[in-house]
Amino acid sequence: MIFKKDEVIKSTSSYEELTEKMRRMINKNSPRLITTLVNFWNAQENVITYAELEVAIANGSIDPATIEKMQKGYSIFVQKYLAPIWAAAIEESLEELYEKFPGFNQDIVLGSIETWTGAHAAELITRITTDQKRAINAMIDYSVTTGAMTPYELARAIRPVVGLTKPQAMANLRYYETLLGSGMSKDKAKKKALDYAAWQHRYRAKVIAEHELAVANRYGKYYGVKEAQQRGLMGVVEKKWITAGDGNVCEACMKLDRQQIGMDELFEYKGRLILGPEGAHVHCRCILIYVEV
Ligand SMILES: [Zn+2]
Repeated sequence: MIFKKDEVIKSTSSYEELTEKMRRMINKNSPRLITTLVNFWNAQENVITYAELEVAIANGSIDPATIEKMQKGYSIFVQKYLAPIWAAAIEESLEELYEKFPGFNQDIVLGSIETWTGAHAAELITRITTDQKRAINAMIDYSVTTGAMTPYELARAIRPVVGLTKPQAMANLRYYETLLGSGMSKDKAKKKALDYAAWQHRYRAKVIAEHELAVANRYGKYYGVKEAQQRGLMGVVEKKWITAGDGNVCEACMKLDRQQIGMDELFEYKGRLILGPEGAHVHCRCILIYVEV
């Protein structure tokens, strides 16, 4: 949202409407991304063969070639499915600028958006592949150390948790072991661990989807305002941090609430300096508003 200084004072109450707008955008766009992600992970499971996993177990860690294969899968996923969702979130963030400045259109922001999308995609693919590698290696490490499973069993326990983070994968493994320890049959324990993995995938997909939508939306607005300034449509602008304003706001974001700084200045979050649009942490629902000063 773009305000003149006097408007800010009058419209403080509308912060609620603005965070509500972000929430609506996320609710509208996230379900299809969640489903796509879950389906993608199900397909990714088949990218690693049991033979490759058994070799990985014998070597104590996953082979770089297997990781590269998974990284390629993530890369295709990002281009094909995530990029259009980012685009939708960015488009929504620009609607207000389109309305406010006749002639301001998508083409104006295209360059900055493409640069951002390219860099963000690369960073996300690297991060998600690293998470994947860590999760599988942690499971191998744990299982080899404790001798809890045969390589055959371990390979079959790893595949269903493809896509999960290391803590999630380990939680799944321990859950399976606890069930076995309680005297449950292997088949039954396996089935329960699979159900748990399905729930974990959905949970992670939700976090990623909501996070990615919020980040893209905040960057879209940020670059939109910058382009408007460069075209002389807006003068000096400052950005202002606004939290979701409900009971779930974390303490660190609470400290940032209503802080107002220059467009290129940095906010401080737990000793780290951040531009703002990237959000303070995973799943940050805060928004930035732009105030012409
Ligand atoms: Zn936040």
